[in-house]
Amino acid sequence: MLPSFLDSMVALITRTSTDLPPDVRKAMAVALHAEEPATRAGQALTIIAQNIDQAESCEGPICQDTGMPTFEVKVPVGANQIWMKQAIKGAVAEATRRGKLRPNSVDSITGENSGDNLGPGTPIIHFEQWEKDEIEVKLILKGGGCENTNAQYALPAELDHLGRADRSLDGVRKCILHAVWKAQGKGCAPGAVGVCVGGDRTSGYLHAKEQLFRTLDDTNPDPRLAAIEDSVMDAANQLTVGPMGFGGRTSLIGCKIGALNRLPASFFVSIAYDCWAFRRLGVTLDAHSGAITGWLYREGDTASVPMLTPEQVAAGFPRTGREIPLQAPITDEQIRSLKVGDVVLISGRMFTGRDAVHHHLMEHEPPVDLRGGVLYHCGPVVVKEGEGWKVTAAGPTTSIREEPYQADIIKRYGVRAVIGKGGMGAKTLAGLKESGAVYLNAVGGAAQFYARCINRVTGVSLLEFGTPEAMWHLEVTDFPAIVTMDAHGNSLHKDIEEASAAKLAPAAR
Ligand code: SF4
Repeated sequence: MLPSFLDSMVALITRTSTDLPPDVRKAMAVALHAEEPATRAGQALTIIAQNIDQAESCEGPICQDTGMPTFEVKVPVGANQIWMKQAIKGAVAEATRRGKLRPNSVDSITGENSGDNLGPGTPIIHFEQWEKDEIEVKLILKGGGCENTNAQYALPAELDHLGRADRSLDGVRKCILHAVWKAQGKGCAPGAVGVCVGGDRTSGYLHAKEQLFRTLDDTNPDPRLAAIEDSVMDAANQLTVGPMGFGGRTSLIGCKIGALNRLPASFFVSIAYDCWAFRRLGVTLDAHSGAITGWLYREGDTASVPMLTPEQVAAGFPRTGREIPLQAPITDEQIRSLKVGDVVLISGRMFTGRDAVHHHLMEHEPPVDLRGGVLYHCGPVVVKEGEGWKVTAAGPTTSIREEPYQADIIKRYGVRAVIGKGGMGAKTLAGLKESGAVYLNAVGGAAQFYARCINRVTGVSLLEFGTPEAMWHLEVTDFPAIVTMDAHGNSLHKDIEEASAAKLAPAAR
């Protein structure tokens, strides 16, 4: 039965996770060239471009969060969907074993990670029959940070800074702009939005996600929706949220809108936000062997065009000469000398810690001495190497989830720097000031780039929480990040949010 099907699915998953499709590369290249190289946005985009090339050349995950695998499968009449579903699950488990997918499937009641990306609801597989003789499989890997910035509006609604959004296409447009503004850098901007006008709450979100299977450079066949897509792109990029929410010219690389009929009483606008690491690919398969007959989104099977020259990739982090070296453990004096906007290069030891670790530290002493330490909000991809471990992908995760805990943990255990992405809130900002600590924003999704800053894994604690949630002990060299919240009460995130809020209403006109 389809002897090559499983191998074809492993190949699809591997390439989707490691090699961005041409349309996304093109959009990111335009974004890169729109920024001055020595600006925060320019540096972030150069790191992203390096990361894209590094991931492709080493066949490593572009981002450590390989997301919720979502398959859209079209089959000829009579195909055995039960068998194919099992084979897709087998391929997901195999790709996880090979380190192309991070174990991402967590039991919602016990918190236990299944370890192989299989479990109730994981992966998502949708089948549809069609009249053709071949099989088509499309895959999207959409991570948690951008998934958390999805939004659904019930119109009419009052929107911050935009006023009333009516049940009209203008109301739809306002909702999309509001969602992009609200996401700031939390979904690893510049992102793309898939939108559904109408449907019910469930079908609306599904149809919105389906829009992300369109290429960024296509034209909507419905001229009314095409006009809204163009107008949203213009207006969203006037907000200057910028890459990672650092401020800059590109906040959005795509807007794709679909529509479903609705109930007379409902008018939902559902928005699926995807990050710059927009991993989407597809294949056509021979319906008898399951072998790949063609790649979708790649004009056959064209090789990817690199984002940068080999020399630019080898040059590493684009330095301006103003970077500040920080050796961990870090002193109070060093931390208080830092201010928002400074770029730091961290060397020394660093510990990862995300949701489970923060929750744990509220009740228990830390397994390591965190005084003067650097806590990295990161759920890396780690593989066993002999008796030790190797980190193969290690970008930052969204920090705001730790807002209820962070200030207490900093104070109790003497943490001096927290690294993550998307920024944190008022409680943490006050905590940084009180305890003498900073929040550092790393470039979200740059998992390959940051993995190369890690010299070695010196240990691991709390591994019972699963690989992404464990506390990994890392030794790093010249790990770059930007001070976006300092020990003097300043927050770049707050400033950019306020500045972009002031631009919302004019941009929406
Ligand atoms: S690029 Fe950012 S939002 Fe996207 S999957 Fe990676 S961490 Fe999540």
